[in-house]
Amino acid sequence: MTPEPASPAGSQLDHARATTALPHHTLETVLAIRRWTKNLLSVRTNRSPAFRFTPGHYARLGLDGVDGKVVWRPFSVASAAHDEHLEFLAVLVPGGSFSNLLAKVREGEPIRVDKASYGFMTIDRFAPGRDLWLLASGTGLGPFLSILSEPATWQRYDNLIVVHSVRHACELAYRDEIAKIPHGELLAASPARLRYVPVVTREALVGALPARIPQLIEDGRLEQAAGVALDPRHSRIMVCGNPQMSRELRRQLTARGFRSNRRAAPGHVAFENYWTTPPL
Ligand SMILES: Cc1cc2nc3c(=O)[nH]c(=O)nc-3n(C[C@H](O)[C@H](O)[C@H](O)COP(=O)(O)OP(=O)(O)OC[C@H]3O[C@@H](n4cnc5c(N)ncnc54)[C@H](O)[C@@H]3O)c2cc1C
Repeated sequence: MTPEPASPAGSQLDHARATTALPHHTLETVLAIRRWTKNLLSVRTNRSPAFRFTPGHYARLGLDGVDGKVVWRPFSVASAAHDEHLEFLAVLVPGGSFSNLLAKVREGEPIRVDKASYGFMTIDRFAPGRDLWLLASGTGLGPFLSILSEPATWQRYDNLIVVHSVRHACELAYRDEIAKIPHGELLAASPARLRYVPVVTREALVGALPARIPQLIEDGRLEQAAGVALDPRHSRIMVCGNPQMSRELRRQLTARGFRSNRRAAPGHVAFENYWTTPPL
């Protein structure tokens, strides 16, 4: 069907809308950059008072390319919902369009932040449970930092288990900060217990488990290190980062009776993949 031509009145209205339309993002300033390794960094920006998010959500960040086009990418918010700033944990992917721009960003420079936040990996989507497992690979730790800094998380669960899997020990970002979380002003009175399980796959590190998370679940070492059993009656599990890890964990956990969250049916497991891989 051929569309109706727009009436002159309509086109004037459209023009008026286009010229008065508010941008969907705000321009913020990079306040601080913390380098964990050459390619792993935390970026702190100021936060528009209107920017709202639920811990576990992601924002969309935009950087201006040399050709004048803005490159947008999703990034999980790592800072607390009550913080006045926003913080993101980012990896610089060799040759990546956003990574190339981010590598050059300095403190004091502008960055665009979409006004909306997005995502489904939030604790309110789970069926009630006792233990919250946060399984991260690499920068997948980011949203879990935000979730762990939220008092509601500590009220809802008895045990919080954060598992961070990286290749090299130097990539265990926020290790000291995680140890301090339970002593924070808002959380110190909570009876919930936090367990931090570092996993380093490419070198030996005392105190860290030495294999990928699916392997550690398969052979029982993860439950042993956490001192908590994985059980669909009590465990709620978030998985974030590498899609290959997600795929393996989905298969494993489904076989053990865990069910993914659905829009109308709260479940036991939520997954967030940072990139896509072709189907096997
Ligand atoms: C919902 C969501 C949330 C995200 N949150 C974060 C975040 O908090 N921190 C973050 O660093 N990235 C995050 N990402 C990935 C991020 O949006 C970009 O893909 C990444 O910064 C690379 O962008 P690029 O343009 O440089 O390269 P792209 O062309 O977008 O990516 C190229 C390749 O880089 C690899 N890659 C992408 N992201 C990662 C990663 N995080 N770790 C390892 N390898 C990766 C993949 O192989 C991908 O195919 C998220 C993605 C999604 C979908």
